Amino acid sequence: MAMTPPDWSVIHKQEFTAGSCWKDSSCYCCVNNHPDFSFQLLPSNGTTLLYMEGEYDFLKKTGQVLEKTADGKPPQFFSFEFGGPKPLNIFHTPCYLAGLCEGVIQKPLLCKLYPFIPVLDTDGALETIVPASIYDITFDILGASSPCSVFDQQAEYFQRWSTLPAEIQSLQHPSIILYLQAIKFFVQSYEKKVKACKELQGLSGKKFWSKWELLYLGRKLVDTERLRIDVKKTYLDLEKKFGEFLC
Ligand code: SF4
Ligand code: SF4
Repeated sequence: MAMTPPDWSVIHKQEFTAGSCWKDSSCYCCVNNHPDFSFQLLPSNGTTLLYMEGEYDFLKKTGQVLEKTADGKPPQFFSFEFGGPKPLNIFHTPCYLAGLCEGVIQKPLLCKLYPFIPVLDTDGALETIVPASIYDITFDILGASSPCSVFDQQAEYFQRWSTLPAEIQSLQHPSIILYLQAIKFFVQSYEKKVKACKELQGLSGKKFWSKWELLYLGRKLVDTERLRIDVKKTYLDLEKKFGEFLC
């Protein structure tokens, strides 16, 4: 018998990073107002919300998601086929609430976790943490600082989460572990590709980020085949321990 899905009501009761810095309408993580960003397609003065499929469905039922963008478009859907019984499905939509989402929508898990994502191993222990934003991962690669003033607290976050407090325990479901592992593999592949990317070499500032946007949205900065292999292997490890869980 297939395992019951994650309980998103429990996950969404957790505070996670619990800071209040994001409630300031000028906060960087909600508006991405870095002076070098001048994107054509990615949101300016806003950011992109990402939801795991089960999370999106849970929040949609209670009306706590953005149903439409300012120009009337519903959230978009991205499916990652890795050769398992079902793909990893992600909903994404721009958010222009600029930190003022309280009482409007429920903050997605990704926003609650920012600036780091805990990656759990297949036993549910904390394996590592990775930056929650593609921009912060890229600043790291470039040797630049993130504008987020708590980004340098990576060791403290790791220490706190490695004790497996209730918020981390709420994520100990194999399907969530699979998504978290997929994020880790994505970050690993992305770092390698960006470091090796000849088209980005020698560029800096606005020139770097303009070129980066084209390559990133064109899916040139991740080895999708490698990602499929790594995610499938993790899926099989989890399936061995938990039986069928990706429902
Ligand atoms: S300090 Fe970091 S997490 Fe807090 S609002 Fe600023 S960018 Fe966001
Ligand atoms: S949902 Fe809230 S915390 Fe997340 S990006 Fe939008 S305004 Fe910021």
